[in-house]
Amino acid sequence: MDHPALAPVLEVFASIQGEGRYVGEPQVFLRLRGCPMRCTWCDTPGSWDVPAAASARVMTPDGPERHPLWASPFHAITWIGSAEPRDPRTVSLTGGEPLIWPEFILGLRTMLGGRRLHLETAGGHPEALARVIDVIDHVSLDLKLPADLEAPVPSIFEGPDGVRSTSETAPNDLATWRIARRRCLTLVSGRDACAKIVVSGERSRDDYQELLEDVSGLAAGTPVVLQPVTPLGGATAPSAELLNDLAEDARDLGLEVRVVPQVHRTLGIA
Ligand code: SF4
Repeated sequence: MDHPALAPVLEVFASIQGEGRYVGEPQVFLRLRGCPMRCTWCDTPGSWDVPAAASARVMTPDGPERHPLWASPFHAITWIGSAEPRDPRTVSLTGGEPLIWPEFILGLRTMLGGRRLHLETAGGHPEALARVIDVIDHVSLDLKLPADLEAPVPSIFEGPDGVRSTSETAPNDLATWRIARRRCLTLVSGRDACAKIVVSGERSRDDYQELLEDVSGLAAGTPVVLQPVTPLGGATAPSAELLNDLAEDARDLGLEVRVVPQVHRTLGIA
């Protein structure tokens, strides 16, 4: 059943892309609320919920503005225009997990004209990804280690006028994560995409092999970005040896690989 193409917006802001294949590119970020997953290294836990009393924050060159939480694609593109300092930028759709709002994504595309739309996703909702992938110009697909995931929260988010997040269930164990990951990799194969793997000092080289082998087997042309976890909130940065070993493991599998930390953290920007 189709629902109104609304989504809850946490914030809209212009910044520098700090992760993935387009690292360093000035972009404008549209961060949606709502995520049923619980990744150990989540750096945006404030995006998980959709509190009824929340509002959208739009960072304009003249300062922050507050707007209603639930946005149509038209409202979102208006706020994006307000946040951009000058010429239109690539729009990076992030979260939360933006894939739980597929109708909104389809509607947003129709508002964007020729400008690029990038999607950052954890890859837990392959049915939603299949619905929207033809309107996305770049997918940054996080590949999660099962050991870095806690059980998802079984939640469907509801908004005004009957709007609901997708009914597609987030994976909740090793087997369902493996299925979701492989379906997502198959979907992005041959497209403009990257597979991002957060590397933690608390994991071993062996822990990452299945992820690398899945990229090699299902999406061999997709670049892999190894992202050392930012050592905040008790996270342990990986050693240079672990990063070098994983880069070589990826190369041995014929993969294009880069090691890139969260650049926006290094720069001290949002
Ligand atoms: S999918 Fe993204 S927002 Fe959700 S818990 Fe994981 S890192 Fe955080």
